[in-house]
Amino acid sequence: MRAQASVLHLDLDAFFAAVEQRDKPSLRGKPVVVGGVGGRGVVSTASYEARRYGVRSAMSTREARARCPHAAFLTGRFHAYRETSRAVMAVLRAVSPLVEPLSLDEAFVDLAPAELGDHDETTLRAMGERLREGVKEATGGLTASVGIGTSKFIAKVASDLDKPDGLVVVMPGTETELLRPMHVTVIPGVGPATAERLRRAGIHTVADLETVSLDELVRLVGRAHGTGLHALARAEDDRAVEPERETKSVSVEGTYDTDLTDRSLMSGLLTRQAGQVAERLRKHGLSGRTITIKVRLHDFTTLSRSTTLPSPTDHAPTIARLARSLLEELDTSGGVRLLGVGVSGLADWIQEELFTDEEPEQEQDVAPVEPPTQRSTWAPGMDVEHTEMGRGWVWGSGRGVVTVRFETAQTGPGPVRSYPADSPDLAPWRPPETDGAPV
Ligand SMILES: [Mg+2]
Repeated sequence: MRAQASVLHLDLDAFFAAVEQRDKPSLRGKPVVVGGVGGRGVVSTASYEARRYGVRSAMSTREARARCPHAAFLTGRFHAYRETSRAVMAVLRAVSPLVEPLSLDEAFVDLAPAELGDHDETTLRAMGERLREGVKEATGGLTASVGIGTSKFIAKVASDLDKPDGLVVVMPGTETELLRPMHVTVIPGVGPATAERLRRAGIHTVADLETVSLDELVRLVGRAHGTGLHALARAEDDRAVEPERETKSVSVEGTYDTDLTDRSLMSGLLTRQAGQVAERLRKHGLSGRTITIKVRLHDFTTLSRSTTLPSPTDHAPTIARLARSLLEELDTSGGVRLLGVGVSGLADWIQEELFTDEEPEQEQDVAPVEPPTQRSTWAPGMDVEHTEMGRGWVWGSGRGVVTVRFETAQTGPGPVRSYPADSPDLAPWRPPETDGAPV
């Protein structure tokens, strides 16, 4: 914990849904749900209008539809989220070079090098407001919540206190007072399993936790976890803001004496490696958003393929399923001598458990995963271009018909038209040359 409040956490409000509302003027002020739209889909982000109906992240899309049938249910447009995220990170880096992105819509900023003059509450509040204003300008109107405190933990807690569109500064010396009434799950790394173990021991709040001795905590939740909990319950957190965080990864790979040609064997190996990666992630209290496979062919060509989830996972079946689907894109008929699975885009905050064990374990429809290849169907929300009408987005499709609303962030709400699904005049639209696509 620092003597001054010099760690800032910024979190965009309902990010994916807010980007959709920005780019689809007819949806502004209306309930919007971004996520998997298929039968087993899961909600990734709900707009605040949809949250009023009880729609939440990680809820099944089926339940979300029951609660808010009139919401717009959209699949994700990761090119738009990435581009918007880049603009936000640039605003943050103009404040301080020490920016640690946690995900597309969240980052820590170390304010120590920011030359603020002092770290009084007024100075910090003014800086926070300037930053929020800068983000709004750079993103075409998106709001962000900001927390400032003496550590990552406190900054993160603070940004959540007045969400959405909030700014909270927690001054040095007031941290424990703030934390005490809060539920133990406010502490990073306390997921449902740990919370349950603590609950059975009669520990509900941070204040309860503070009364438990280190020995007892270690007995309850293990050495590594117990030590961390003991410190965090007292707001003791010295973790540095690490600008390179996003590029780190956890991976497992194997080289084979004889070239592998059997696809089911390769799938099996990837599944096992995914299990090892997940285990390592969990051991370090990490989770990650980008799943990558690495494949070396018989001629030593090395290929990698990756896909990015809307929020971090450490769930072995999810990682395995994505790894296997990435393998399916590659021609491995000549034989493979190396296979590997990695997870990057790491976060040490478990925020939304999108892919829990309650989720169906069957194949397919892992919810809003960025499609590794061009979509061949008209997914709701996707960008399209019509030869005469110009740009718009898929409002719905089925029975050989696709309905498009023609509008963009720059237009007002636009007209709706329907076309045969195989119309030669309609094509998916992608921004020209995005360089940020994961490799
Ligand atoms: Mg957010």
